[in-house]
Amino acid sequence: MQASAVELYASRLSELQNRIDAAASSAGRDPSEITSIVVSKFHPAEVVRALYDCGVRDFGENRHQEAEQKALETEDLDINWHFVGQLQSKKARAATRYAKTIHSLDRASVVTALSKIDFVIDGFIQVNMTADFDRGGVEPVDLEAMVEQVLATPSIKLRGVMAVAPLDEDPLKAFERLAGYSERVTKLEPRASSISAGMTHDFEQAIQFGATHLRIGSAITGERPKNG
Ligand SMILES: *Cc1c(COP(=O)(O)O)cnc(C)c1O
Repeated sequence: MQASAVELYASRLSELQNRIDAAASSAGRDPSEITSIVVSKFHPAEVVRALYDCGVRDFGENRHQEAEQKALETEDLDINWHFVGQLQSKKARAATRYAKTIHSLDRASVVTALSKIDFVIDGFIQVNMTADFDRGGVEPVDLEAMVEQVLATPSIKLRGVMAVAPLDEDPLKAFERLAGYSERVTKLEPRASSISAGMTHDFEQAIQFGATHLRIGSAITGERPKNG
């Protein structure tokens, strides 16, 4: 990786941190309670390495095969991998070989698959915020049932809720709704108060409604190849 690329990443990271600090401050929140995960999908391991040299430790991926390969290529680094994409239940156990946090618990079958591991991972329940049943995430009416299933699974420590704001809705409205889902979860498990929300184009709005885990891709890595 060229020195200039590392400088570019460092300047994007510091600009991102400034915007996070400002959004947290205007929401009356402490920025230190907000974790930024850099989503490295579609970018090679060298990009992960360069970002690591800039101090990034939390990385996100959304496809198992790509994530597994990248984690292998960077296994000498002390990275916290987050799995943020849709996970097939037959790949769920394999994903926990590198990812210690799964943000996309969205079906009973995935939770059942993860009940078979003999260590503990962190998990977020993904909630579908769109009217489209094919999108990832549990339907809001099924949220409590999913929480109960995860709480009955000793190998998953429930951290909270995760969502992607719909493209056709004001993100502020979506994140306000998500904060309501988060409250429903904390009624059942007060410690599961984290909210994984906010991407390059809407993280400031997510911070306003309590996001604790931002998933930021292109603001740091630059544009992805198409279909990213
Ligand atoms: C790609 C992706 C992100 C990051 O998206 P950007 O808009 O590039 O910041 C966040 N969350 C999920 C689930 C993703 O797939």
